[in-house]
Amino acid sequence: MPRIVRPLLVLCLLLASCTSWERRQEFEGWTLYVQSGEPVEVDLYRAGVQPAFEAVEALLGPFEREVRVHALHSGVDMQSGNRGVLTGDGAAAEEIEGIGPARVPAYHLRGDGGPFSPSGVFMTTTDTGTAVHEFVHAYFAERGERLPLWFEEGFAMLLGDGALRDGRWQPDGLSAWPWRKLREEPLSDEDLARLLAVRAGDDHSARDNVLVHFLGWTVVFDLYREYGTLDWQHLLEHFRQAPDPVAEARRRMEHTLADATPLEWLARLQDPSPAVRLAAARGTWKLHSAEVHALLVQAIFTEEDPEVRASLAVNALATASQTRLRRRQEGRMWRAVLPVLRDTQLPDPDESSALRTLYRAYRSGSRNYDAQGALARLHRFWEE
Ligand SMILES: [Zn+2]
Repeated sequence: MPRIVRPLLVLCLLLASCTSWERRQEFEGWTLYVQSGEPVEVDLYRAGVQPAFEAVEALLGPFEREVRVHALHSGVDMQSGNRGVLTGDGAAAEEIEGIGPARVPAYHLRGDGGPFSPSGVFMTTTDTGTAVHEFVHAYFAERGERLPLWFEEGFAMLLGDGALRDGRWQPDGLSAWPWRKLREEPLSDEDLARLLAVRAGDDHSARDNVLVHFLGWTVVFDLYREYGTLDWQHLLEHFRQAPDPVAEARRRMEHTLADATPLEWLARLQDPSPAVRLAAARGTWKLHSAEVHALLVQAIFTEEDPEVRASLAVNALATASQTRLRRRQEGRMWRAVLPVLRDTQLPDPDESSALRTLYRAYRSGSRNYDAQGALARLHRFWEE
């Protein structure tokens, strides 16, 4: 599998930048801005961002003012948890201690809207999940909500995890990267107390910013699992009723990080809605779990939807590249996966051809086929 850099999402970078922005295109409820003189592929932004805007309005309520979306060509170099500078390279990743390489694909600014303090969403990507995450921040900013940072980031991660199907964003909520990372490097009570107290405007390290996202997600995901609602006020209220926030965060985090949690969550692979099944399958390879792999392979044998089949197959292959599997399990995987790669017709012919390339590459074991390139063309099925 290609080396994957997990996008890192940051609430409130204070950027020293004199970029000037020009209005490029108005959509319903949001407007696309570009850096003066830079080209932008408006249709890509429409395809990626519009479903995110619609999803956040449907889940949280309508925006009252136009949301500004800025197409960024430069990358962001984080200097601390909430400070960064724009750099030339949009693909640059930086190493964060104990976390690994991370990249800032997008951020939201609560500026005053003046020429050197623009407010809104800034994106180096047109990925819908990333846009959902940032619109959640935009929504809270418009309402003047000052929520605990862990909650806002956790809630944004919850809604930003999912899949795009037929132009609609289907949230899922199980974010695989923090699940695995926090199991590998558990947080102490001291960490919890510190992270729960971080506010958006406080000075904090890039590492703590990442951990605030991770911790926030584990807690909000557990609240969501327990109460079955995406009503954020309801979820936050329940958390606040607990007498000891550190103990409550620990209890909920451990619940989310349990072995059984993703296995129970993946009952969604049997949901009647193919959008729900697709959103459940996408990104599961990041759990690096042989048990999850068995569930994915099992699901392929009964799955009929082409996009869900492709997603199950690619995530099973990616899991196999990261996890030690028993011979029998691997044999079963090939019996399930090879027919998917060989026969599945996807709506996009380029994606179908990428499946065929993978089929030939795995079938022949030859390096003459560009398996990495094929996986990149199938990114919407596994990247999360
Ligand atoms: Zn965020």
